[in-house]
Amino acid sequence: MSNLIVVSNREPYEHNSVDGRVVCQRTDGGLVSALDPVLKHLGGTWIAWGSGGADQEVPGQVDGLPMPPDEPAYRLRRVWLEPAAVRNGGQGYANQVLWPLCHVTLDRVSYRKAFWAGYEALNRSFADTVLDELGKRPAPVWVHDYHLGLLPAMIKQQSPDTTICLFWHVPWPGPDVFRILPERREMLEGLLAADCLTFQTASYATAFADCAKEFLNASVDPSKTVVHHRGHKTRLTIRAISVHFNRFSDLAKTAEVEDVMARARRRLGIPRGVRIGLGVDRLDYTKGLMKRLWALEDFFDRYPEYLGTFTFLQVAIPTRNNVEAYRQYRDLIRETVTEINERFKAPPEGTNKGWTPIEYIEGRVTSHTLVAYYRMADLTLVSSVYDGMNLVAKEYVASQVDETGVLVVSHLAGAAEELMGALVVNPYDQEGMADSIRRALEMPENERRERMQLMRLRLSTHDIFHWAESCLRDADIEVDRLESVQG
Ligand code: UDP
Repeated sequence: MSNLIVVSNREPYEHNSVDGRVVCQRTDGGLVSALDPVLKHLGGTWIAWGSGGADQEVPGQVDGLPMPPDEPAYRLRRVWLEPAAVRNGGQGYANQVLWPLCHVTLDRVSYRKAFWAGYEALNRSFADTVLDELGKRPAPVWVHDYHLGLLPAMIKQQSPDTTICLFWHVPWPGPDVFRILPERREMLEGLLAADCLTFQTASYATAFADCAKEFLNASVDPSKTVVHHRGHKTRLTIRAISVHFNRFSDLAKTAEVEDVMARARRRLGIPRGVRIGLGVDRLDYTKGLMKRLWALEDFFDRYPEYLGTFTFLQVAIPTRNNVEAYRQYRDLIRETVTEINERFKAPPEGTNKGWTPIEYIEGRVTSHTLVAYYRMADLTLVSSVYDGMNLVAKEYVASQVDETGVLVVSHLAGAAEELMGALVVNPYDQEGMADSIRRALEMPENERRERMQLMRLRLSTHDIFHWAESCLRDADIEVDRLESVQG
């Protein structure tokens, strides 16, 4: 087991009360999907906020809990946050200021002074827990994402010799946008205390370097890969996050998944000949779900030959329901799906009886069901208006063992830069997106195979283990070689 300490706001497993019983459940989202296999492989300690309703009821947590419960591989040490730090720091500053700012959805930025105090308190609580762990034995620290921008500086103040690297999962905006943040200097200084900062794409790393220069007058080398500030050197590196390729690929070939595929068609009422488009997203406004729905409406409008022969399956994962903007967005999506379905549904006596243009599934799905959907889908559409990477795009490719599906991805998602076999779309151009759906459906099989094989080859060598090893190596953190493992 390595002694690595990984820190994120989101915890990988939550305890919740279900029907009077405490159950342990894996949490949603890309960060956990990516890091859980790495920690399972590496061991170490994962420090995260104890967000589950019944987390505090679990006994014996002073030294952390062995996780996952059925096959313990690492320790989960929970941080207990004050309600004000959760409300103002997490839901406020992180989710209503930094998230929309970094995704350049500026009319969604909702700033209040109290949010900043909450953000400082949240970071302070994490720092206290990390420092407590470091007091037991020295260890390198790998911090994750925009909730924890002040953490590197808070740790270094007390423990200057600790090696710290931080992975920034979301985009980083240029100086013209970052200028909006009243605490831009404090954020940059908090981050620059790290020894290595890693971004998903070159453009985000460059944008960060430009901000450091503009707002701190930091010294940035011409290649924009090293920043010197107040006598400290920080490396800037670029590593696109990825997926556990073998796990998706192997799971997709199992009899269980084939069984789920057959049952899913029956359950959803999608007959064999009807082709399937797929979307899998948290119900987040950055995923461009409205634009996707408008594109689908335009598609059925202009290409009526697909009425009755193509269904779009949208999995919508509930998220951040404690923020009003998210509840409004969810309601709008539900209403728009209903309107489109009403508009195009087949007449009861028509040939397409029972066919639905958009099958909308709101809720979480199991990993077998998810992989079955990925395998069934003739195309998967990612229409983010901005997205650090988008792991759904990569999971689709990893699960496409038949190699006949087409990935359609927004050029504003990091994944578009890497997945050269995808059809790249502009989410702001709904007619263009509709045409790309048609192109995907009409693409000859040999072209589909060539494109998918290219992407599968790329991801089989650039999987989540390759990513983790590269990030840690960038910061001179030694770990045993992380090989892609089966299953
Ligand atoms: N996912 C999930 N629960 C589900 C369905 C999917 O957690 O019910 C996962 C999916 O497998 C993917 C992640 O959610 O790993 C979404 O990651 P992505 O990078 O696309 O977006 P993010 O949610 O991190 O913004």
